[in-house]
Amino acid sequence: MQVLLAEEYGFCFGVERAVEMVEGALGEGATVRTLGPLIHNTQEIQRLEAEGVRTIDAPGDVTAGETAVIRAHGVTPQVQRDLEARAERVIDATCPFVTKVQKLAERAAEQGRDVVVVGNPDHPEMIGVVGYAPACTHVVRDASEVAALPPLHAPLVVSQTTLKLKTFLEAAEAVRAKADAEPQVVNTICSATRDRQDAARALAGEVDAFYVIGGKHSSNSLKLLSVCKEQCERSFLIETPDEINPADLTGAERVGVTAGASTPNWLIEQVVSRLREIGKAEARP
Ligand code: SF4
Repeated sequence: MQVLLAEEYGFCFGVERAVEMVEGALGEGATVRTLGPLIHNTQEIQRLEAEGVRTIDAPGDVTAGETAVIRAHGVTPQVQRDLEARAERVIDATCPFVTKVQKLAERAAEQGRDVVVVGNPDHPEMIGVVGYAPACTHVVRDASEVAALPPLHAPLVVSQTTLKLKTFLEAAEAVRAKADAEPQVVNTICSATRDRQDAARALAGEVDAFYVIGGKHSSNSLKLLSVCKEQCERSFLIETPDEINPADLTGAERVGVTAGASTPNWLIEQVVSRLREIGKAEARP
């Protein structure tokens, strides 16, 4: 049985960078606290906890001498200041793609313009971005919410990094009708999610079974699963190798593997090894 990995899988750039920054601080002997879970993967969180990393809910939970980590989603400038006031050291692991959105919003606000961000207003990334231009930023989920906005002055239109392109373009188009000047539309969607989906789709048509490794409640992983299922009926979402049922692989000659952007490499390697073991056992007479 052949085990094939999708061309793009696992940690995205921003998550990998954040985990590496935490590892670096641990290596220097720091007491590390992350504001919110560093990553949406239970197994990786447990591994980091075993190394002494703890998750805190608010800047007020940091005590003197601790190192506070801002995760890839970013935070508002106020939250950053609160952390800096309490922690021994603050590690800013905001993904550079998110920083770009924050800076664009901040600059537009300085120029006296309105900002429209297309995304989920409750998502931590969006809450952070709004904090950079609180007086003039409007968050809309999609084009249907643009009609309720007030008239907009020379607006900047940007997107949540994980948004669908179609949703963004439709909302940006709707903003035109509300604006007193041509909007500045900057597509700030990160390609990590789409790249993983495209690669999974390409491989799913060539295999007999497919394993998506990721959180059972992660919308990212569920989307990957549905993309695989379109081409390969025997597609499964698993969190750990223990969930692989060898009976599901009966007669399979080629098995595909992919993983969500929060799934660590060590977990992917464990799944691939388990699949190879099952393949060897099947091949024995
Ligand atoms: S999905 Fe994109 S924007 Fe978000 S952390 Fe990963 S690389 Fe950065």
